[in-house]
Amino acid sequence: MFNKILIANRGEIACRVIKTAQQMGVRTVAVYSDADAHSLHVAMADEAIHIGAAPSRESYLLGDKVIEAALKTGAQAIHPGYGFLSENADFCRKCADNNIVFIGPPIGAIEAMGSKSAAKQIMEKAGVPLVPGYHGEDQSRDIIKKAADDMGYPVLLKAAAGGGGKGMRQVWSEDEFDEGLEAAKRESMNAFGDDHMLVEKYLTQPRHVEIQVFCDTFGKGVYLFERDCSVQRRHQKVIEEAPAPGMTEELRQKMGEAALKAAQAISYEGAGTVEFLLDTDGSFYFMEMNTRLQVEHPVTEYITGQDLVEWQLRVASGEPLPLSQDQLSINGHAFEARVYAEDPDNEFLPATGVLEFLQAPEESENVRVDTGVRQGDEVSVYYDPMIAKLIVWDENRDKALARMSKALKEYRISGLTTNLDFLYNLANAPAFKEADLDTGFIEKHHGDIF
Ligand code: ADP
Repeated sequence: MFNKILIANRGEIACRVIKTAQQMGVRTVAVYSDADAHSLHVAMADEAIHIGAAPSRESYLLGDKVIEAALKTGAQAIHPGYGFLSENADFCRKCADNNIVFIGPPIGAIEAMGSKSAAKQIMEKAGVPLVPGYHGEDQSRDIIKKAADDMGYPVLLKAAAGGGGKGMRQVWSEDEFDEGLEAAKRESMNAFGDDHMLVEKYLTQPRHVEIQVFCDTFGKGVYLFERDCSVQRRHQKVIEEAPAPGMTEELRQKMGEAALKAAQAISYEGAGTVEFLLDTDGSFYFMEMNTRLQVEHPVTEYITGQDLVEWQLRVASGEPLPLSQDQLSINGHAFEARVYAEDPDNEFLPATGVLEFLQAPEESENVRVDTGVRQGDEVSVYYDPMIAKLIVWDENRDKALARMSKALKEYRISGLTTNLDFLYNLANAPAFKEADLDTGFIEKHHGDIF
């Protein structure tokens, strides 16, 4: 096991990684920007190194600065968290060049999944089911349009380099095609500096069901079951749960095995998530693979009783997987709600300001709060305005949901606008209780939530 690791991140995920490292007796190094000098992750770590100015481009995204900090402090490995440098193949390469272990997959796996269309080509060859569509290299308008026409509308145009729901456009009919293509390309160019597009059949009522996989450096892999992340706003997850309601053992196994096939196709190592769309008829389709720890990993930790960060550290240091597939099982039900500084009554505009009063629900065996802020801290314009992740567990879905509802009610935050009431209404919407989930849930039940 490593003696010392550096966490190339901030906020709740930096704190969460530090916690596990401490439990394992691994020393920790935090990095921070000007805006984060007094942040919780800096206070929690054994050492902290300043790496630049507040904007991420001038600090958390500077791979060279992060490597320099690791070399200076003698950290043997870097945990990238999610976002920032976590899926950056160049950074991964720089770690290797400096004999630092990147706690994540090999460079080739990150590269392979970096483009949605290249990823689909690999998965097609590996026999993983794909959403019908076009993911070829030829980007001429006529080829893309013909693919859309042949498939039949509605279709979804997607940026190959996309992420965070950006560069996606639904096209409902042939005469909307050109406008949609131009808009998607423009958005993609602005966000990613690339406008390579793919086309998919637009599924009108799918669920987002993703599989947590883990592979070691000895070629062994397991899946830690699924998470249902269907409750989304603008293709962004809001509440996640595990297991997925209504999942049969047979489908779970089929999806788990497909996810492992996807991971094996790119010689994966470490924690990864294979995202699928699950259609109303029980068909499922590969969407993309995220080559990092996900925001919503705690729901999987609750139902499996495993610490995924501990698994990451073990696998990255060359140990075999802690458990085999038949040693893993699902116990109970877990939910996660993302508590944000944002205004649901005003287009969910990010809110900034000081957390004048902050009282999270009391943590227990059933309630977990992953956060990177304390009372008095500021939520600034520079980073994602997530305040905390509230995660609850109980022996079944109804009980877990009742716990979530109670915990949301107990949460007290003042000083800035939050989405707590929105989350509470969502958790209490009758259709949510009935687990009548699909990715259009929030739109469909608008009246019950707002
Ligand atoms: P991003 O990487 O930008 O998050 P994804 O490809 O992961 O984009 O898709 C995000 C969300 O968009 C999915 O969870 C789903 O809600 C929706 N989505 C993606 N592809 C389709 C599709 N073919 N049909 C319907 N909805 C889709």
